[in-house]
Amino acid sequence: MKKKTRSIHTGVYKDTSYNSVTTPIYPTSNFYFDALGKTRGYDYTRSGNPTRSALEENLAALEGGVAASATATGMAAITAVMFFLRPGDHVITGDDIYGGTYRLFNQALRAMGMDFSFVPMRDVSAVQKAIRTQTRMIWIETPSNPLLNITDIARITELAKGKNILTVADNTFLSPYLQNPLELGVDMVVHSTTKYLNGHSDVVGGAVVYGRKELAEKGKAIVNALGLSQSPFDSWLVLRGIKTLGQRMEAHEANARRIAEFLDQHPSVKKVYYPGLKTHPCQDVIQKQMKGSGGMLAFELDRSKVDLDRFFSKLQYFLLAESLGGVESLIEHPWSMSHASMGEEGLKSSGITPETIRVSVGLEDAEDLIADLGQALDHQN
Ligand SMILES: *Cc1c(COP(=O)(O)O)cnc(C)c1O
Repeated sequence: MKKKTRSIHTGVYKDTSYNSVTTPIYPTSNFYFDALGKTRGYDYTRSGNPTRSALEENLAALEGGVAASATATGMAAITAVMFFLRPGDHVITGDDIYGGTYRLFNQALRAMGMDFSFVPMRDVSAVQKAIRTQTRMIWIETPSNPLLNITDIARITELAKGKNILTVADNTFLSPYLQNPLELGVDMVVHSTTKYLNGHSDVVGGAVVYGRKELAEKGKAIVNALGLSQSPFDSWLVLRGIKTLGQRMEAHEANARRIAEFLDQHPSVKKVYYPGLKTHPCQDVIQKQMKGSGGMLAFELDRSKVDLDRFFSKLQYFLLAESLGGVESLIEHPWSMSHASMGEEGLKSSGITPETIRVSVGLEDAEDLIADLGQALDHQN
């Protein structure tokens, strides 16, 4: 089965009483027993719920995993994975990972006795050098946020082989439609389903997808013990969003490519970061591991030509907002918004400048989007 077919059919048919075409929402905290020790597969919704199972089966099929856990948020999914580790364990990750992940690692988990090395992951030798005897996990996020740096997933997972090091990939930016890290050798994949998987900006959610049965058993026990699972209603919304994932990703990419090309030739734009442009420095890895370039891009605005406040206030269709992956186009300023918590030093060393603009390209008509950007760049008085 191809992905578009899977996203519509896998897991969804849970109503054997009336054959409903969509998955019923089971808004129940608990399930009664037929007799002592005899259930119909569910007893308590934190531990399991048929609506959530439908979503989990669907997600596992899309990523090519053995099972999945649907969690309340993306951060809940990341928290679950980090509970595979113990105090004293060391983790290697990128120096340009999602800000919330950085905060969880650097503040909450450091305080619990774990150690982290933040390295430029696009450089495989930097990862190799950071490996210690205590290293138990390598955390990959590619493409990175907001500058779309690419990490070679297969080469990084090679480094972990035979060393008792778990490899995990945050696949939020491309979604399972455009990249499948389990096929490239990682042990687990996490998602913020808030973004492309749900795709409609109306729910927060997350997922862990497991590459092996023993990881699934451990992960599901952690999600249950910590109480991280997603509500039946939110699970239903994400499952509903996933049915159009393939069509949406193709349309996000088609729009992003046109906008990237438009910005690339605009005199007020100094640089465009988009994996679909031939000028992106990682073309060989992009061709090897990505099935598309996705809908996220960033660019450097020439502030000698364009006033930042005026640029944002002139835009009609691009909402000034954080988050990404929804049908509506969003634009933001990483320096003062999504990445401000990195501090000026951290921002500079990761390559983010006060002129960096990040765009989540939505599904509006590309001509309207390009005209909107054009008028905001050109009419500066
Ligand atoms: C948004 C995001 C997260 C966190 O997900 P939430 O649903 O906001 O908790 C993690 N990783 C990436 C790459 C994200 O974009």
